[in-house]
Amino acid sequence: MRDVVIIGSGCAGNTAAIYAARANLKPLVVQGHEAGGQLSLTTLVENFPGFPEGILGPELVENMKKQAQNFGAEYLHGSLLEADLSKRPFRLSIEEEIVETRTLIVASGASARWLGLPSEQKLIGHGVSSCATCDGFFYRGRKIMVIGGGDSAMEEANFLSRFGSEVTLVHRRGQFRASKIMLDRARANPKVKFLLNTVVDEVLGVAGNLVTGVRLRNLETGAVWEQEVDGFFVAIGHIPNTAVFKGQIETDADGYILSKGGARTNIPGVFHAGDVQDRTYRQAITASGAGCMAAMEAERFLEAEGH
Ligand code: NAP
Repeated sequence: MRDVVIIGSGCAGNTAAIYAARANLKPLVVQGHEAGGQLSLTTLVENFPGFPEGILGPELVENMKKQAQNFGAEYLHGSLLEADLSKRPFRLSIEEEIVETRTLIVASGASARWLGLPSEQKLIGHGVSSCATCDGFFYRGRKIMVIGGGDSAMEEANFLSRFGSEVTLVHRRGQFRASKIMLDRARANPKVKFLLNTVVDEVLGVAGNLVTGVRLRNLETGAVWEQEVDGFFVAIGHIPNTAVFKGQIETDADGYILSKGGARTNIPGVFHAGDVQDRTYRQAITASGAGCMAAMEAERFLEAEGH
């Protein structure tokens, strides 16, 4: 029987683990299939306070993990396959193991949706990114491309126009999912050029391990051409990792956990932390803060129940 199980080992999960471990709750962290979360996919992180020279994303998240382990947190490789949250203790099926726990912190994050091209996958962190806030700075004076037709794509295109010499927004249709105000803003931005009814067939640069361009295809005319690009930003949405909790933890229509205040979910004893609930900020520092909140709430919950 565990006091606290934490699902996810990104900033939120690791910070929850540090706090829960220091409260002597010996948390178990289930690492999941994207161990380290989104930070493990980035390079230099320059906006996490306390690192004036910046720190590599994978190093930052590994440091958090070590810090949690130093206080007694345990880490388990594997994914949560099933969860029975209908009664306490909660019953979790993690790969071959069944784990029972008095509280659960869901810090399973939201995975960026990718196009799924092999070349795109190989170049993540080498010119391909899913986070303008994280990586835009590296493309000062360079050619940037943003993929998507929703609010995220508009927001990223506008944000990236502060850095890039030009920003090309590529969208697969002629109509946008983005709200009018966000679209108008991007349209009014002289640095943002639109390429509509266009898809990316390949990201170029795999041989040199650095993005050099893209091969594009117009869906109406069938025309295929290559365009020089330094930074390739995919902004086609995120997928919160909540499928395993479907029908138990309340979420919005897109699967993001609905907060019941603080770090609470609709199920007493189940808490949320990080991107699995936050569709607005999605930063390492906000996820860490949320992990801290969730651990403190779990601790208070256990104390109130006399554990
Ligand atoms: P979204 O609204 O779901 O838009 C995703 C876009 O990506 C769509 O235009 C979609 O094209 C495109 N797309 C999806 N899969 C693709 C693929 N395989 N290849 C090419 N294009 C693909 O996602 P989002 O922009 O991340 O926004 C998510 C939510 O957050 C929305 O509710 C949004 O309003 C909100 N948000 C708000 C703000 C803000 O107000 N400041 C900022 C960001 C996000 P189709 O249109 O053809 O389907």
